[in-house]
Amino acid sequence: MAVFAEEVNLAGYTTLRLGGPARRFVEATSEDELVAAVRKADDAGEPVLVLGGGSNLVVSDDGFPGTVVHVGARGVERTAGDGDTVLVRVRAGEDWDPFVARCVSDGLAGVECLSGIPGRVGATPIQNVGAYGQDVSETIVEVRAYDRQARSCVILDRDQCRFTYRHSVFKGNDRYVVLDVTYALRETEESQPIKYAELAKRLGVQPGERVSLKEARDAVLELRRGKGMVVDAADPDSRSAGSFFTNPILTAGQLAGLERRVAERLGPDAAFPRYPEADGRTKTSAAWLIDKAGFAKGHALGPVRISTKHTLALTNPGGAGGASTADLLALAREVRAGVCEAFGVELVNEPVMVGVSL
Ligand SMILES: Cc1cc2nc3c(=O)[nH]c(=O)nc-3n(C[C@H](O)[C@H](O)[C@H](O)COP(=O)(O)OP(=O)(O)OC[C@H]3O[C@@H](n4cnc5c(N)ncnc54)[C@H](O)[C@@H]3O)c2cc1C
Repeated sequence: MAVFAEEVNLAGYTTLRLGGPARRFVEATSEDELVAAVRKADDAGEPVLVLGGGSNLVVSDDGFPGTVVHVGARGVERTAGDGDTVLVRVRAGEDWDPFVARCVSDGLAGVECLSGIPGRVGATPIQNVGAYGQDVSETIVEVRAYDRQARSCVILDRDQCRFTYRHSVFKGNDRYVVLDVTYALRETEESQPIKYAELAKRLGVQPGERVSLKEARDAVLELRRGKGMVVDAADPDSRSAGSFFTNPILTAGQLAGLERRVAERLGPDAAFPRYPEADGRTKTSAAWLIDKAGFAKGHALGPVRISTKHTLALTNPGGAGGASTADLLALAREVRAGVCEAFGVELVNEPVMVGVSL
């Protein structure tokens, strides 16, 4: 049965351990409870925040002046697809990493490089979760959602999800409440081809080669732990929302501007990371820009700091009560302004802002 409470502190529900109270809080353990809670708040004209694992959220110190619905509906159903494909439908409240671990042990390939990412399944389509050369747009075949405009359940296929890098139709749009996600996975003990150079190196293979699912998962977890990117109560660097900024994708004009600024700042022979995008633009590395703008790992502003293991994560090392969201935003603004001044590139936040903006 759904549990209702008032004035619940959201810091306890975010990996940053930041955020003020929710006026109302509903723990929805089934799809019916989830839809009923959202409908009730909509009928009352109350703002709604759908909450998963709280690992991609920056919540205002003032909290949330409406109903927070915590998605807890669980369940995994497996059906045969074409050839060696298996369709796995997963309810939104399942925790993501245990699901990945189960796929790996059951011999299902397609999500092994997404090991160690915190949060729940229902959030994976929101920003097209990705890491180490994989993202969920490669495996998601459909998303079933409650459409708050139509007040009914709808199914969105992959095209309708409009997945791009860390984006989809769902991000920045509170129309849909994800109820379940169907992934098409391959029944095999072998990983999908390893695309990410750092991971291939760790595995001792060439990019494009395959390894066992378990080897891929273990190597990803090891790399992630080394960067504080696995949530671990014993690791203050993991008190974050993961990468705080997305990697900038530059037009030809912006790229030329960056080339000029890099040469001015670091010398005519200086190179910077560049990855061609299918649409002709070029992605560069936010972590590289932050580092070269002069922000070292561990750079602190009051009680918050850049992770000591990874330049792209902003952390609240002291945990609950250690800092405020205002502290975190001050650091984020300092970093964003420093990168803009050094390189003319405007960094954009990856986590979802609730009641605040950068
Ligand atoms: C240490 C660490 C490492 C990370 N590494 C990565 C990484 O490698 N790659 C990556 O892509 N992300 C990464 N992240 C970010 C985060 O884990 C993912 O974005 C994750 O999918 C968020 O899931 P969540 O359940 O915690 O979502 P929440 O933080 O609870 O919510 C995020 C957004 O999704 C919405 N939402 C959540 N559930 C639903 C639903 N059922 N229906 C509709 N909207 C919903 C929320 O309203 C909010 O807008 C990392 C975070 C941390 C803390």
